[in-house]
Amino acid sequence: MQRLFTTAALAGLALSCADGPAPSFEETVGESPVVELPFDEGDEAPGAAEFDEDEVRLGLPTWSIDQLERAQPGDVVQVGDYSVLVPPPGRGVTLIAERHDGTHQSIHLVTRQDGRVVQVEETHHEGTQLPSVTPSLPDGALGAPTTPAACADGAYALSGFSWKKPLAWWFKAAATPRTLNAGKVEGSLRRGAAALTSLHNNCGRTDRMSGTHVYKGRTTRGTNFVWTGTVGCGNPDDFNVVSFGFLDGATLALTCSWWWEGGEAAEMDMRFDKDVRWSTSSSVPLACQRSFMMDSVGTHEFGHAFGLDHVRGDSHAALTMTPYSKPCSLGPKTLGLGDIRGLKTLYP
Ligand SMILES: [Zn+2]
Repeated sequence: MQRLFTTAALAGLALSCADGPAPSFEETVGESPVVELPFDEGDEAPGAAEFDEDEVRLGLPTWSIDQLERAQPGDVVQVGDYSVLVPPPGRGVTLIAERHDGTHQSIHLVTRQDGRVVQVEETHHEGTQLPSVTPSLPDGALGAPTTPAACADGAYALSGFSWKKPLAWWFKAAATPRTLNAGKVEGSLRRGAAALTSLHNNCGRTDRMSGTHVYKGRTTRGTNFVWTGTVGCGNPDDFNVVSFGFLDGATLALTCSWWWEGGEAAEMDMRFDKDVRWSTSSSVPLACQRSFMMDSVGTHEFGHAFGLDHVRGDSHAALTMTPYSKPCSLGPKTLGLGDIRGLKTLYP
């Protein structure tokens, strides 16, 4: 099995113009033939061989979410196709994954100072557009069950942490799949992060949020994902790294966040599936059929990194934090009302 991270991709360290390149179609047009989802039933199970040696943690005590009272720091808690290593006392971990088919998974755990491991419920705010949930409806509601327009949908969900300092992140360019240009990925990620922190919207709102991000450049440092039999969040190393890598066949992207009990963010790592067909163009290519736009998914993932979880249900499809990622769409790069409200709640 080919190793994930080769030094060959380190070539071309020169920084490219990251902001506002002309729309490029070459990544879609020039990509190799469609890569089908790599994990069908009957295939050899993916796993340890796809991860760097230091990312593999096999044989650890593994618990389900219903067995948390037995879990100890360093153990594995597995939920569906994902897992987290239980953090030490006083720290929490959040895993949020999205899949091609719109299914998604969040895991929020904290180890209390007394050693108890508990699940943290995300906080949902349904906004003003769902009469069945919020009977006293104010302004201009469109009403369920239709999906409200982005600027009319005030729903958001919070994971339970936020950054007290700028989110300073690095990009592991060497992990970029060969079908993509690392400089263009870098530009796309930076645009995505900036769309989020600038609260980029088409709602005519000029809100600001106090949270900021700083792109620190390229790194050879790895992410803190682990393979425990499923892919998951390992132990943090205080470096916020964005990378590509193996994720199970249906997973588009995964963001892990580690935080202090009390809610201050400590670290985030972000991984995009290396086998997904990505486009780094800043406009949707005419020929786009099934490429996922890095600008969009990047904006969404940075939303997770900043503390937003998925809005609940399928009636918030116009928001950036909807779990239903669609190919060939730049919609998520433009925030909706709920996205803005959530961020302003976390970063007033
Ligand atoms: Zn998500």
